[in-house]
Amino acid sequence: MKITRKPLAFVLTLVMILSVLFGSVFQVSAAAPAWPTVQSGSSGANVYALQYLINYWGYNTITVDGDFGSNTTTAVKNFQTKKGLTSDGIVGTNSWTALTNVTQKTSSYSANATKAIQYLLKNKYGMSSLAVDGAFGSGTESAVKSFQTANSITADGSVGPATWQYLVGAGKSPAASSSYSNMSLADLAKEILKRSNIKFTYDASAASGRNDGANAYNCMVSTSKGEPAKLSAYKANVCPGGTVYLSKNLLISILMLNDKYGQIGINCLADGHHSSGSNHYKGIAADFSYVGSYNSVSQPVGDNSTITTFLKGSGFTLTDWSGTFYNEGNHYHVAITAYTP
Ligand SMILES: [Zn+2]
Repeated sequence: MKITRKPLAFVLTLVMILSVLFGSVFQVSAAAPAWPTVQSGSSGANVYALQYLINYWGYNTITVDGDFGSNTTTAVKNFQTKKGLTSDGIVGTNSWTALTNVTQKTSSYSANATKAIQYLLKNKYGMSSLAVDGAFGSGTESAVKSFQTANSITADGSVGPATWQYLVGAGKSPAASSSYSNMSLADLAKEILKRSNIKFTYDASAASGRNDGANAYNCMVSTSKGEPAKLSAYKANVCPGGTVYLSKNLLISILMLNDKYGQIGINCLADGHHSSGSNHYKGIAADFSYVGSYNSVSQPVGDNSTITTFLKGSGFTLTDWSGTFYNEGNHYHVAITAYTP
C-alpha cells in the first residue's frame, strides 16, 4: 500500500490555522484548585469538612472538632479500605475525590454532607450569616450560588464534584457586599427578627389601621414564612386591605442601616394608614422612629442628609420627596426602588 504524508501535513496545517483563528475554542478553562493534604496533626476548616464527610459515609462515632487525631485517622483508614484506596490515613486527591462523591442540592441532601458545605462557606469563605444546620434550604442554595459565581463555575446552587473541589481547595470568597443580596426574602426577614437591636415601635392599639393585626412586626413574621404582608382594611377608603410582598431591597436596606447605625426602631412597613397609592402599600417603604442616634422627634423636619448619603452611597435608589430619607416629624420615611451592590 502506498503511503503519502501530504494529506497528513495538510490536516496538521489546517488544524494549526484553525487553532489560531478560533483560539478560544481550544482554551481550557482555569484549572480547579488542587486538593489539600490533611493528616494526623492537621486542624482547621478542612478537617471539620473531612469529619462531617466521614460521618456522612457511615462513621458516626467521629467527633467533629476540627482536630485530626487518632479517631479520625482510624476512621479515614477504614474509609480508604472500604473504597479500595491505600489505607494510610492521609487524605489527599484520591481520598477527597471519594469523600466528596456526593452531590448536594435543595431537592436532595444529607445532613452531614450539607454541614460540611455550610461549615466551609461560613468559616472558610466568610459567609457568616449561614447556619451549619445540615438543612440545604434556600439560604444555603443562595450561598452556594454566590460561591460558584465568585469562582466562575456554573451557578446552579448544586454542589457536585467541581464545587466540592473549590470548597475544599483554595476557592475565592464571594464579595462581602453580595451576602445580603444572595439571601432569600424569607431569610432576610428571619435575620431582621433575630437581631435584638432592631425593634418594632408601633402602637398596636392605635386606630391607624394596625388594630386589625396588620402591623410592622406581623409584616416581618409573614415575610419570614415566605408569605405576603397583610395590608390593613380597617377603613376601606384609606387602607386598601389585601396583601403585598415586602421588597427584598427594603429589607436589605434595614439590615445595612442596622449594621451602620446600630439601634433601629421600625414603626411601619406595609401596615398602617397612609395616603392612597402610598409606597407602603407597594411593600417598598418603611417608617423608622429612630436609626442609631438619629431620633426622628429630635431631628429637624426635612431631608435627613446623613442617612440619605449612606443609603445612596451603598447602592440604593430612593423615591418619595425627591429620593430622600425623609423626616415626617414623628418618623423617618424611606422608599427603595432599586439596589445595585
Ligand atoms: Zn411612610
